[in-house]
Amino acid sequence: MAAIEMKNIVKQYGDGFPAVNDVSIDVADGEFMILVGPSGCGKSTLLRMIVGLEDITSGDMVVGGDRVNDLAPRDRNLSMVFQNYALYPHLTVYENIAFPLRLAGKDQKEIDEKVREASKTLDLDEHLDRRPANLSGGQRQRVAMGRAIVRDARAFLFDEPLSNLDAKLRGQMRAEISRLQKRLGITTVYVTHDQTEAMTLGDRVAVLKRGILQQLATPKELYEQPVNLFVAGFIGSPPMNFLPATVEGNDMSLPFGTFKIPDAKAEKTAGKGLLMAGIRPEHFEDVTMLEEGRAQSNQFEAQVDVREWLGDQQFAYIPYEAEQKVQDQLKELAKEVDSESLRTQLVVSLDSASEIQEGQTATLFINTERMHFFDPSTGENLTVGL
Ligand code: ATP
Repeated sequence: MAAIEMKNIVKQYGDGFPAVNDVSIDVADGEFMILVGPSGCGKSTLLRMIVGLEDITSGDMVVGGDRVNDLAPRDRNLSMVFQNYALYPHLTVYENIAFPLRLAGKDQKEIDEKVREASKTLDLDEHLDRRPANLSGGQRQRVAMGRAIVRDARAFLFDEPLSNLDAKLRGQMRAEISRLQKRLGITTVYVTHDQTEAMTLGDRVAVLKRGILQQLATPKELYEQPVNLFVAGFIGSPPMNFLPATVEGNDMSLPFGTFKIPDAKAEKTAGKGLLMAGIRPEHFEDVTMLEEGRAQSNQFEAQVDVREWLGDQQFAYIPYEAEQKVQDQLKELAKEVDSESLRTQLVVSLDSASEIQEGQTATLFINTERMHFFDPSTGENLTVGL
């Protein structure tokens, strides 16, 4: 096992475009680190540079205290699991798992012990004599993991290992990977574009955009204290609502009314002109669902367009008017965070017992203590930590 330090890593391909631009990330020994971001953000390139499949343009890649920039992949002793599993179709499950051990010249007794241990861990005992073509997607995925864990590798590297599976299996495999990583305590770097995987698996998550590290934090911190608009919009589903806002003193004007905000937020936003306010769907509520006294202020009337009742919660969609400039900004952000739901509409998550109706007006409460305010030109969160 080993810590991985990425120090000012840059990768420029032939056309000079920096696919990875001055990224520094320290992965502690035994830590589960996620690299996440939309397509093309450079996460796979970064992973491939750790394992040695891609040259590093500049910066230092350090594994277990050794600079590995110039080491061939086989000399780095890292185990990688690929998106397409890369199993050998002509070999049985047993031989696929045994492959790296045979390559390393281990004796049959040790090979057998290790393969059987991995197979037990991954629930593959019944399938050891089959070939990959006769396995389900989830089983293939487990064979690929088996092949990775039999080696005494210094770290695991996963490149979107669950993206070929259906949603239910993805959920199961997510839990399995999490359990396995905790049990083995092995340093892991895991690439995904799926924010649910990022939030549920990682000890910490590195969010990348166009080759640049945006934020490196625990899932909770990313969710509650995103440093900029991009991270705020990327993490969370349905995503954070973004609204044009102006603040004067403690009064904040949104497209559907004026609300009071706490002093600390008012101080940070005073005199800044038009801002982008961000508020997550769960920080709204139908006032009839609130304890008495809670919703004295910060209420507004909303025309409910669509209601989605899911049993344990429900969402309501509420379109609002905004000037073209704001609409353009939201469209741009939606493109960046790969989301279709960033529009000039509020998405609110309400108690499932709420009896709001489509086409009718509801009175909603907005929890302004949980709001964020972003500088619309730089995207910076002006109220991070408040
Ligand atoms: P995806 O989720 O789509 O795989 P990613 O975040 O993993 O995306 P990378 O595959 O790391 O992104 O690519 C980062 C950037 O580098 C992209 O703009 C991509 O077009 C570019 N790129 C990747 N490989 C090469 C290459 N061999 N030559 C030139 N450009 C490349």
